[in-house]
Amino acid sequence: IPVDPFDLVIFGGTGDLARRKILPALFRRFCAGQMSPDTQIIAAARSALDTATYRGFVTEALNEFVPNRACEEGTLAGFLAIIDYVAIDATGKDGWETLVERIQGNRVRAFYFSVGPSLFAPLAERINSYGLSTQTSRIVVEKPFGHDLTSARALNAILADNFDESQIYRIDHYLGKETVQNLMAIRFGNMLFEPLWNSQYVDHIQITVAESVGVGGRGGYYDRAGAMRDMMQNHLMQLLCLIAMEPPAKFDPDAVRDEKLKVIRALDPVQPHHIVRGQYNAAPGDEDAHPSYREAVEDPRSTTESYIALKAHISNWRWANTPFYLRTGKRLVARSSVINVMFKDAPHAIFGQEAGRHANVLSIRLQPNEGITLKVTIKEPGPGGMRLLDVPLDMSFAEALGAEGEDPPDAYERLIVDVIRGNQTLFMRGDEVEAAWGWTDPIIAGWQARGDVPKPYDSGSTGPGDAELLMKRDGRKWQGIN
Ligand code: NAD
Repeated sequence: IPVDPFDLVIFGGTGDLARRKILPALFRRFCAGQMSPDTQIIAAARSALDTATYRGFVTEALNEFVPNRACEEGTLAGFLAIIDYVAIDATGKDGWETLVERIQGNRVRAFYFSVGPSLFAPLAERINSYGLSTQTSRIVVEKPFGHDLTSARALNAILADNFDESQIYRIDHYLGKETVQNLMAIRFGNMLFEPLWNSQYVDHIQITVAESVGVGGRGGYYDRAGAMRDMMQNHLMQLLCLIAMEPPAKFDPDAVRDEKLKVIRALDPVQPHHIVRGQYNAAPGDEDAHPSYREAVEDPRSTTESYIALKAHISNWRWANTPFYLRTGKRLVARSSVINVMFKDAPHAIFGQEAGRHANVLSIRLQPNEGITLKVTIKEPGPGGMRLLDVPLDMSFAEALGAEGEDPPDAYERLIVDVIRGNQTLFMRGDEVEAAWGWTDPIIAGWQARGDVPKPYDSGSTGPGDAELLMKRDGRKWQGIN
């Protein structure tokens, strides 16, 4: 369904995120016929470029990141024609009058803050003081949203001085993934799962976000953040919220976000012995291509974690006694994000002890190969008696939706369209972000107070051995990362 023509300003339009994600997402939507040729995209960044040069930059980005285009001839030219460039200084006056001249009319205006977090406040203030903020304006704010509770509150306050909460779209691109929304469809659109979705039937839940890459060129930022701030406080907590929340009364932004907030508020403080921090070593024999974390961040004594595993408890009626095990890390054996809902064993083993344990597992894969699998138990085929076998009931979205070979829409495509449509359901509200920092801050403060040093782990492994112990102590095991 096409969206009405709009104006989109991408601050940081020459940056890495714009190149890899935002411009390709916009182009795909344009290809899909969702954007009218009256739409205007203005890239605003520091470099003194003219529009023709910037269009060359866009063409290169699309050649690299949207190589297989299912578009008609001429679509690229049509897309480039709606793109303009304005050189601007987010912290000064340069370029702002030009931007004001380019944006007129009453249609939706979105300002995408694809710049470092130190520019969020200056941009918000200037959009307002140059009269660019109208009823139809909205801003899109990238991560990281603050460094801790204090800074997140300060940032929320500045944004609130300039915009209404209904105009602020805090991006967590995990929420734009097809599977994450399917998680809500599975839970609240079926009779089958919700009655079992509680501590009576669920033994525990595992959330894994494993990356195979290291810190790469982001070492400076990452070393000040670490896995807790960079991944756990936002992406993993958002997934936890969607898995654990009560059914909202309706699928509307505040109803959903109210329920997510209740989950964060019900989280117990995490016990120090329920957390494992790790930091990766160089890959043996491959030190040049894959240096250790400390080499990558150029600090031989860094105590920042590139891996974290923890056990969380949600103190409410539904989840009392069902632990949530969360882990994330860099330079792990594979890139894989998956939520595993581990159901309890059947209460009585009618097939005898030799038939073994066959608990159901619902696996929700976010990447790669988005999809959902339910492990169920059947009889092993053949005349060998009543032997049991686990088989997957598998639903890969590509297959199920008849789009095999085609990538599902990228999270950014959906999220940008939601911004234009004015749907905040998949964006974090200010109070959610603050509550999440309120949970992670004491954990980080505890490490600092104790001088905690992360455990080393091998590049290409599943993380530090202590993370296995965290599970083993409870008689449980992580599902494989692959
Ligand atoms: P980048 O350093 O590649 O690009 C920064 C952009 O900001 C450039 O276009 C630059 O011209 C512009 N800029 C810098 N100072 C400016 C000023 N004073 N006035 C106007 N423009 C200015 O950064 P990036 O990697 O594209 O990241 C942008 C934001 O997105 C950051 O907040 C980052 O944390 C977030 N983010 C990035 C990624 C990613 O994969 N790159 C992923 C998630 C979130």
